[in-house]
Amino acid sequence: MNNRIYFVDVTNRDGVQTSRLGLAKLQKTIINLMLDDMGITQSEFGFPTTSHEINYLNGNLELVERNVITKTKLSGWMRGIAADVELSFKNVPKLKNINLSQSTSEQMIHGKYMGKKTSRDIINMTCEAVECAVSKGAQIIGVNAEDASRSDINFLIKYAWEAKKSGAHRFRYCDTLGYEDPKTAYDRIYTIAKEVQMPIEVHYHNDLGMAAACSVMGAKGAIDAGVDAYINTAINGMGERAGNADLVSCLLAVLKSAGFKNKYVIDENIDLSKIWKLAKYTAYAFRVPLPINQPAVGDNAFAHESGIHADGALKDRRNYELYDYEELGRGEPEIIETGRMITTGEYGGIKGFRNVYENLELEFKDEHEARNILELARYANVHTQQPLTDSELKFIYYYPDIAAKVMTVSPYYEPQGAIKERMDAKLLTMPHKII
Ligand SMILES: [Zn+2]
Repeated sequence: MNNRIYFVDVTNRDGVQTSRLGLAKLQKTIINLMLDDMGITQSEFGFPTTSHEINYLNGNLELVERNVITKTKLSGWMRGIAADVELSFKNVPKLKNINLSQSTSEQMIHGKYMGKKTSRDIINMTCEAVECAVSKGAQIIGVNAEDASRSDINFLIKYAWEAKKSGAHRFRYCDTLGYEDPKTAYDRIYTIAKEVQMPIEVHYHNDLGMAAACSVMGAKGAIDAGVDAYINTAINGMGERAGNADLVSCLLAVLKSAGFKNKYVIDENIDLSKIWKLAKYTAYAFRVPLPINQPAVGDNAFAHESGIHADGALKDRRNYELYDYEELGRGEPEIIETGRMITTGEYGGIKGFRNVYENLELEFKDEHEARNILELARYANVHTQQPLTDSELKFIYYYPDIAAKVMTVSPYYEPQGAIKERMDAKLLTMPHKII
């Protein structure tokens, strides 16, 4: 069996759609750098049709050009319509990899399009979008079947098949509502993969607590049918409602579980030992602490207290531990400053700021450099509203131009139509009760 399981992390696209939570563009950039450091196959890094994403997306693609991001492919997500593809490549000209999404279930075709579109229209729109992406020189084109788990399987096969004929490279099976179970995941994905013979992406949500289980069983279905599998994940299982399939859980399930261990091959670039740093940073950036019992990266993942377990683990770790904490990059003591601490932030001054960078062993060659980097660090703090991490400070130091770019968000304001009418009527310059 030569087929592999690859990983497409969607934290920066699906994860940031989480209600009440989000990431600053600088934080999304650091996550892309960390995913690359870990060798994750692909990062779905955002929305090229959304204006406030444009500088961030272009800035990150410049990091690819400069060989700062070398292993992880960056891919943009958009609706499966040609107009979105056109706009995406206009906004982000260096975009190479994309995912195009259309709803495929009867429920959504009727419930969202309200009778204005048929299933034939869905296929036609997708094929036009794929052809448009081909004409723009896209290298990886995935087609996403939204609500695939509630879609008619024969329609999914037709949808995937026609998209493939138009030039799509992958089919994404998206369990939008977290409806599927591992058995149906395997059976349905096996059937589609066997029929269409095209690499399959599996995208599971955790509404029933089975996202990781469905992901690995779906991937098994694809591999057993003779195609590559791409598991969609989010770091720490972030995502809408109950979240997406957790990155480290899926990796460990493939590498360590009874039916998968030594049987399935993952992307050879992936270095599991980077997950600890990535999980901690992501928890910090989202301001969502890791649950104490989070698989692999929770505080209790390697803690033993009961007499029999503690004694057994001390005699031989294999008695009560399935995998080693060192494999995950854990084990180093964390140094927490308990005395004086100088941080740098939006109102910080040059002295404190120099001290912070000295601790990172980064020097400024002249006053202008110091002042300019300080100014960027202040803006970064305005932007993240959290103390800056070492990775963020280093990124600002080494790539000040990209840092400035990704943090630049120009609000859209054009006084037309009703706004212009309000302006002309002097309503904008009148006092209104706001508070
Ligand atoms: Zn999703």
